[in-house]
Amino acid sequence: MWTESVDLHSHSHRSDGLWSPSEMARRAHANGVKVWSLTDHDTSAGWVEAEAECKELGLKFIPGVEITCEVELPSTIDTENPKSWHLLAYFPNGASDELLEWLATLKDARLPRMKAMLDALEELGHTILLADVEKFAEGSLGRPHLGRAMLEAGMVDTVQQAFDDWIGNDCPAFRSRPLPSIAEVCEKVRNEAGITSLAHCKYYGVELEVLIPHIKKLGVDCIEAFHHSHSDSYRLKLVQSGMPVTVGGDSHGTENRPSPGKMLVPLKSLHQAFCP
Ligand SMILES: [Zn+2]
Ligand SMILES: [Zn+2]
Repeated sequence: MWTESVDLHSHSHRSDGLWSPSEMARRAHANGVKVWSLTDHDTSAGWVEAEAECKELGLKFIPGVEITCEVELPSTIDTENPKSWHLLAYFPNGASDELLEWLATLKDARLPRMKAMLDALEELGHTILLADVEKFAEGSLGRPHLGRAMLEAGMVDTVQQAFDDWIGNDCPAFRSRPLPSIAEVCEKVRNEAGITSLAHCKYYGVELEVLIPHIKKLGVDCIEAFHHSHSDSYRLKLVQSGMPVTVGGDSHGTENRPSPGKMLVPLKSLHQAFCP
């Protein structure tokens, strides 16, 4: 049995998505989604609004967050992977105040980092004001907001160009921020009776034979086998890895994927906490 009624990975304007949490809930509902999670980057700021809308619509809401983590790989493993990995964390039983406070510290670390990138651009001869970046961000401040400010200032022709030439990893105005480790996040989430899932693992460029045992060792519960960037054959390999899977459209409300939903997943592989 397969289902299209679960989508556990979406972004609102509380991080780098275009729409409000309630608009994303309505879009999920319109697509036939019955179990849905809002997973903004490093913030729980959209949960209350999303949950209220889901209640109205009769959707099961799972509070979630996509946490940017440090890469933890033994040095023997060679990969051209990004500087950070994304770990999805779900809290079907809710989250404690302590956890929410810890999430707030992750979000706060984004501000000094943004200032450091603006300083770097300034030194390279381009002035972008913090206020011009912040007006694109209702919640977690990130590089896509800076990219939009650079576009508005006429510095680049597209947001992608901002990443390619200026603020992408290893580019001249890129600055990193302190990140939690995957093992640390897994422990915190487990203390809340929550569930973790490694997001879009194809991006990281590590062979599955190496990746799967490694993330199990770190304490990760599931793998996001069904992500829009994964081919069918790759999804199948992940299903056969033996880990419970999650499904994520990763909609940001943008043109390429405007709404959550329309993601097929086999029920017997889906982690049972998310079955409709
Ligand atoms: Zn991600
Ligand atoms: Zn995402």
